[in-house]
Amino acid sequence: MTSMTASRAADLVAALLFVLSLAGLSQHRTSRAGVVYGIAGMALALVATVVVSAQSVSAGPIALILLATVIGAALGLWRARRVEMTQMPELIAVLHSFVGLAAVLVGWNSYLEVEAHGSRGRIAADLTGIHHAEVFIGVFIGAVTFTGSVVAYLKLSARIKSRPLMLPGKNALNLGALAAFVVLTVWFTVSPSLPLMVTVTVLALALGWHLVASIGGGDMPVVVSMLNSYSGWAAAAAGFLLDNNLLIVTGALVGSSGAYLSYIMCQAMNRSFLSVIAGGFGIEAPPGGDQEQGEHREIRAHEAAELLARARSVVITPGYGMAVAQAQHPVAELTRRLRERGIEVRFGVHPVAGRLPGHMNVLLAEARVPYDIVLEMDEINDDFADTSVVLVIGANDTVNPSATEDPASPIAGMPVLRVWEAEQVVVFKRSMASGYAGVQNPLFFRENSSMLFGDARRSVEGILQALGPEAGPGPAAPAQGVTAGR
Ligand code: NDP
Repeated sequence: MTSMTASRAADLVAALLFVLSLAGLSQHRTSRAGVVYGIAGMALALVATVVVSAQSVSAGPIALILLATVIGAALGLWRARRVEMTQMPELIAVLHSFVGLAAVLVGWNSYLEVEAHGSRGRIAADLTGIHHAEVFIGVFIGAVTFTGSVVAYLKLSARIKSRPLMLPGKNALNLGALAAFVVLTVWFTVSPSLPLMVTVTVLALALGWHLVASIGGGDMPVVVSMLNSYSGWAAAAAGFLLDNNLLIVTGALVGSSGAYLSYIMCQAMNRSFLSVIAGGFGIEAPPGGDQEQGEHREIRAHEAAELLARARSVVITPGYGMAVAQAQHPVAELTRRLRERGIEVRFGVHPVAGRLPGHMNVLLAEARVPYDIVLEMDEINDDFADTSVVLVIGANDTVNPSATEDPASPIAGMPVLRVWEAEQVVVFKRSMASGYAGVQNPLFFRENSSMLFGDARRSVEGILQALGPEAGPGPAAPAQGVTAGR
């Protein structure tokens, strides 16, 4: 078998492993296997690339490839071991920016190489126009992905405000940039030149920045999955330029699965998929919405324990604050204790709760909460009216009634968990601060809502303490009623 045939076989096996990886990752039970398939596919792809390169280049470049692989692997391991679950979306945004930057560099390298030395017979004369188009499109997608991901990183890590940037005529700016790109691509294909390469790079960097900066906080999940998709298409474009079939296949897998995830998230968020791709569905600047809207009531841990001990059914709706507080283990313990007492306990998980798709499911699975009591928003929403107590643990935007009741709200139209329909709602948070979208939550001021202030982990531990160690008659501390606050 020649090295080329062996390399093609390795590419095929690696591509199949990536498909198996995606299939595995689509379900909790098979997700570990999915990760293993992905690692195996990437290891095989790396080995095949080095072995094939070794046939045609000298030892120096091979040593450089190996050095880059070792440095990259060491950095990747170091970051992955240190990263907190709450920082995962930021890390993913940074990784997307690397893919975008790599595609830009590959495109520029391919352009400069062909300009300086010709294609050395690798590109047939009648296909040079296609090569020029590949370079141009690859650089464009890569640059949009790069700056878009950098802005996403800055927003997700709260280094810049999550409020949308509202430049006058922002839709016209985006559409104008896309139209200019089409015209420039035709021009470059016919007559490639350095000024056109510089123009498309600057245009795409500015467009990527503007597309993501224009998106409001509550819509960031869709943007993150769109950037995931763009990074896949950027990798596929680089694959065409490097004549690397595996990179094309892998890029297409990431691009299409990311696009599908974005579509599902758009449906969950009640947003138009096309307007996301066109860049920016935060159509109007949201009014500053974090003023308090009345009086709230406070409750303490032992009082919440009382409510729970009397409850018939309890629904827990976790959010980003549960991840920050790492409260999932005491929450799982509370679930076990309440179920021991014969109280029905279920979880209601919003599709964009937390800061990355599936965030809450991962935390609850880690704490060994049984899968069958963890329900999706659509599965639980009609049951709130028949629920005694809802515990809103570190969730805010995903339980905000203004999404359904106030058409002027920045999150209007986003489906939310209708927790306010329950008999009693206890909200676990540290202050009256707004959630990620920067919108105040009228839930906190409803008659049937009480605020349990403090770190969510400590609050849940306080409830556990008040409930006593085993199933028993009721909470240890006497009831004191709820306390009014402002
Ligand atoms: P939010 O981000 O709306 O609110 C989280 C709440 O948790 C805050 O109000 C905060 O209040 C509270 N909190 C923070 N730390 C603690 C703590 N240690 N103990 C107790 N409470 C705490 O959460 P949701 O999950 O409801 O909504 C997710 C938001 O993030 C949505 O707007 C979504 O669009 C967005 N988003 C989601 C992504 C995804 O893919 N899932 C990606 C990017 C953004 P306080 O400070 O007072 O404690």
